Amino acid sequence: MKSNSKVLPQRQSVCCWGFSPVQPRPTPCGCRDTEKIKRQNTLSLDIFQRLGDCFPLCLCVSVVKRFVFFFALLLPISAHAALNVFACEPEWAALTQELAGDKASIYSATNALQDPHRVEARPSLIAKARRANLVVCTGAELEVAWLPVVLRESGNATVLPGSTAYFEAAQFVKMLEVPTRLDRSDGDVHAQGNPHIQTDPRNFLPIAEALGRRLVQLDPGNAAYYQQRLATFNQQWRAAIAKWEAQAAPLKGVPVVVQHKGFPYLSDWLGMEEVIALEPKPGMEPSAAHLSQVLNTLQKQPAKFVLRAAYQNARPSEWIAERAHIGAVELPYTVGGSDKAKNLYGLFDDTLARLLAGLK
Ligand SMILES: [Zn+2]
Repeated sequence: MKSNSKVLPQRQSVCCWGFSPVQPRPTPCGCRDTEKIKRQNTLSLDIFQRLGDCFPLCLCVSVVKRFVFFFALLLPISAHAALNVFACEPEWAALTQELAGDKASIYSATNALQDPHRVEARPSLIAKARRANLVVCTGAELEVAWLPVVLRESGNATVLPGSTAYFEAAQFVKMLEVPTRLDRSDGDVHAQGNPHIQTDPRNFLPIAEALGRRLVQLDPGNAAYYQQRLATFNQQWRAAIAKWEAQAAPLKGVPVVVQHKGFPYLSDWLGMEEVIALEPKPGMEPSAAHLSQVLNTLQKQPAKFVLRAAYQNARPSEWIAERAHIGAVELPYTVGGSDKAKNLYGLFDDTLARLLAGLK
């Protein structure tokens, strides 16, 4: 205790207590309620009590509190989530969840009711990107209007394009509707092709392979875990595709109208024929004059139903459905786009159920 009293005056400014297991002794720095401090810091004081006879201690309670809080936060993170993942769209959040399980804490920047082309680069997104150690997006310029701003403002150099921690799903699939000329007056036309790759479940196989490899690169300590989950996903996803394709046989050759050019991969997978789009140019709301033209086309070239994504305004497709006497089918489009699309499997189960119901 004697050595303690020598130390104490130098530490008064940070509010310390001279403390021994036998005789708690407050210093004159203003915070004297040692019983209260004991109650609040039982864990840390117990540890020091065990050491007490050998170590007369001066504890700064605020520092102890911070340490206890810090380790309490750190322990569950290190035990479960090794990676902080920023996904641009719900489908990539869901795929990352399939592959990374409890090793990742995943945030989706958009939900199924948002247009992924147009997202505000708000501070909460920037804060999430700042903490990310993996970014998983579609790419192919889908997020060109907002992601570059979010990443730049985040100041997180580890997740910039070109780094291992930046993953673009579109790089791993065969792109459709790649334009032969690029003119912004044509609307939301992307140089690399149509970015709505998540509507064909076959695309998830090469993307999952590449994403699985990326998880291993970023977190090699859990390599066996990621490889096991990838193998399981591959097996289950292939079985699910076979089931969906069998169910979808009646959709082959069915002529459809699309509200936005958001379904070329779905149509390619199921063999549906896209007659026309309601948007005069991708991303442009259809005018009444344009809808009248679409109606004329449909009189010559009938379609079975008009497709729209859950995030889209229902009015143009309802308008055309009523006048052309065809069905209007809203598809979840991504995870969360309907009550049943709770994960990737639910997304395609519900997509097929809605398309098949549209045939009746
Ligand atoms: Zn689009």
